[in-house]
Amino acid sequence: MKTVFSPLHAGHSGQMELMAGEILPGFEKPSRAEIIKARVESEKLGPILPPDVHDLQAAKRVHRADYIDFLPTAWPKWEAAGRKGSAIPYTWPTRGLRTDVLPQTIDAQLGFYSFDGGASFVKGTWDAIKSSCDVALTAAALVKAGERAAFALCRPPGHHAGSAFMGGYCYINNAAVAAQWFRDQGAARVTILDVDYHHGNGTQEIFYDRADVQVINLHGDPMTEYPFFLGHADERGEGAGEGFNHNYPMPFGTAWEDWGAALEDACGKLAAFAPDVVVVSLGVDTFEKDPISQFKLTSEDYPKIGRRIAKLGLPTLFVMEGGYAVDEIGINAVGVLTGFEDR
Ligand SMILES: [Zn+2]
Repeated sequence: MKTVFSPLHAGHSGQMELMAGEILPGFEKPSRAEIIKARVESEKLGPILPPDVHDLQAAKRVHRADYIDFLPTAWPKWEAAGRKGSAIPYTWPTRGLRTDVLPQTIDAQLGFYSFDGGASFVKGTWDAIKSSCDVALTAAALVKAGERAAFALCRPPGHHAGSAFMGGYCYINNAAVAAQWFRDQGAARVTILDVDYHHGNGTQEIFYDRADVQVINLHGDPMTEYPFFLGHADERGEGAGEGFNHNYPMPFGTAWEDWGAALEDACGKLAAFAPDVVVVSLGVDTFEKDPISQFKLTSEDYPKIGRRIAKLGLPTLFVMEGGYAVDEIGINAVGVLTGFEDR
């Protein structure tokens, strides 16, 4: 299996995040991608290719144009305001506040285009965001060209980013951009299967009213887990999209027996939809030692995920999402991929 990777991710480094009452160094850090890349090499998964550079049109097919155009301006505006450190929002336009006018200060604009304080900017953040999207599109093109599967080693991740908001370490929704790209290239139906520990709220929001992109999420129950405000089992899509969104919220402590059963049920719904291609939002923060998550999957479980997805017999694009136990992130992420290849 070919991997697409960009060294530009590394510029997104040293950013801080707002969590549990403190401003902390981001759990989403460059070593995550470097360790996965090293494991791809040591496991001889296949060649590692650089991304082709794309314009932003593909991203604007799933994101609002003004949101995408804002992202490269965030850090320059922060610097122009005389700020240092990380550009983090602190005010959000929630219930009762206006979202029809964009205020002029960078603080307001960061809040306007986000749903939490988990997606901050440093100097190299935009180049990393853009390269991560390029990685996804380049890997998608490999699958379109006939590869059975490809691995987009994206960083930053994407599945919390919605049509006009960032959050949860995510800025451009790489999996959603790739899924739409497949549609625009002629695929009739695409499924996004999100196995990250956290609900892919951005992906759900983007495709919620559509019947051509099925979205399936396995994740921590939002009653107790981030992102808290989406991801319940009764969210099944709306309008034309009714019945094409499937959520599997699960409680803290969920281990393979129940998680694997949910995956089995999800694969049944996926097969019934009969997509032309599957995009897997590949998070491995379901791992028992993940520092910010509460599931109990073991390193032996990840190859089983890959084998089950391979059994679908469909062209498959793996897009890297979360996973914060950096010592094992390579073993677990690449474990899914070698399991897919049944070796
Ligand atoms: Zn996650």
